[in-house]
Amino acid sequence: MSDTVVTRFAPSPTGFLHIGGARTALFNWLYARGRGGKFLLRIEDTDRARSTPEATAAILQGMAWLGLDHDGEVVSQFEQAGRHAEVALQLLDQGKAYKCFSTQEEIAEFRESAKAKGRSTLFRSPWRDASPDTHPEAPYVVRIKAPLDGTTVIRDEVQGDVTIRNDQLDDMVLLRSDGTPVYMLAVVVDDHDMGVTHVIRGDDHLNNAARQMMIYQAMGWEPPVWAHIPLIHGPDGKKLSKRHGALGAQEYQAMGYPASGMRNYLARLGWSHGDDEFFTDEQAKEWFDLGGIGKSPARFDVKKLENLCGQHIAIEEDAALRQEIQEYLAAAELSPLTDAQADGLERAMYCLKDRAKTFPELLEKAHFVLASRPLEMDDKAQKALAGAPEGMLTELTPQLQSVSWERDDLEAVLNSFAEARETKFGKLAGPLRAALAGRAVTPSVFDMMLVLGRDEVLARFSDAAADA
Ligand code: GLU
Repeated sequence: MSDTVVTRFAPSPTGFLHIGGARTALFNWLYARGRGGKFLLRIEDTDRARSTPEATAAILQGMAWLGLDHDGEVVSQFEQAGRHAEVALQLLDQGKAYKCFSTQEEIAEFRESAKAKGRSTLFRSPWRDASPDTHPEAPYVVRIKAPLDGTTVIRDEVQGDVTIRNDQLDDMVLLRSDGTPVYMLAVVVDDHDMGVTHVIRGDDHLNNAARQMMIYQAMGWEPPVWAHIPLIHGPDGKKLSKRHGALGAQEYQAMGYPASGMRNYLARLGWSHGDDEFFTDEQAKEWFDLGGIGKSPARFDVKKLENLCGQHIAIEEDAALRQEIQEYLAAAELSPLTDAQADGLERAMYCLKDRAKTFPELLEKAHFVLASRPLEMDDKAQKALAGAPEGMLTELTPQLQSVSWERDDLEAVLNSFAEARETKFGKLAGPLRAALAGRAVTPSVFDMMLVLGRDEVLARFSDAAADA
């Protein structure tokens, strides 16, 4: 096996990219990216009836949102069918596989009779050691000659050594009677041909690994390092399902979670690095290892996700947030921000990003810079404005016309007005927020004044004074 780590994500294109798949992809991506390795993508589209191009597109989109870039071309498993069949025929040539002419009825009969006799119902083909001159002119499948005794050991990095008795495995079919390869063969051949060194996937595939090992052994190929990760459960400890909420990775984009927070959260679903909860991609790449994957199923917890998302929004670059928010709006099928709005948003970002856990929350606080005059006042703002000291806005206007537009000077003006009216600045804040934003929940009055600039602030004051 080469020294370069090669991992892969191998989704079946039968639906969107779900949370479990996204986490599998992320683990493989982190493992490769942290080791200067390669992360490959293979679409397992051999099941023609269930695979759709729309599902492939949705999976690619979900991965693009999560920033899980893959190396090289996307491999279509179906397109490799010829190569899969070639390997089966090679095994046939080498006597490691055989043609089996048993019909479905004969197999069913075998099982019935084994059951009646209290024996194992695993099919034992009479053709396993039959000489070719006894072969009829009839349809056949190609079966592997599985070892009859001994054990197969899966050295799993998460589950430990998993030992399967070979007498519990039958002579699996490699090629169907129409010559098409089975899925199990396809996976092994593709992983081998793609040079995959580490297979990290859900533990629902652990049983497959034993069968896949047989093919590696028969071909004399070195098996990959296996890591079968426990599935994700809902907060109630049951397998994650629709009743627990959204399952599609991209639904989280449309709900306004930042991709960086989602990556951080998904990495923590079943993997840990000491007590670290919040970390950057760089740290995750450096720290991620198979030893940190837990043996018991992780539970999906939206509160934790939101908490991490908030921390990621707070540290993200303003320009990157601007871009990601536009992408969120598109994903949520909402109107995009105009350039002027997006410019304003970026200028205001410093006072918005500290406390928002999601983009809708951030945009709500950004209302003051996104809305244009005349502002519509919501009920709370109307009430707040009604409670303003008499003539506040008209009196402040000339003072604000001449003051330098700096935080300290603005503070001085508003504080001295409060003093003159024998009140506290806190009492003025509500009506000022209302005049500046038309809302009650906003960034601080001074941040809004600085972001909006003198002309806009005075124009909003004059609108509000006329309304009051
Ligand atoms: N196509 C399989 C799935 O979507 C994954 C197979 C594998 O990782 O080996 O569950």
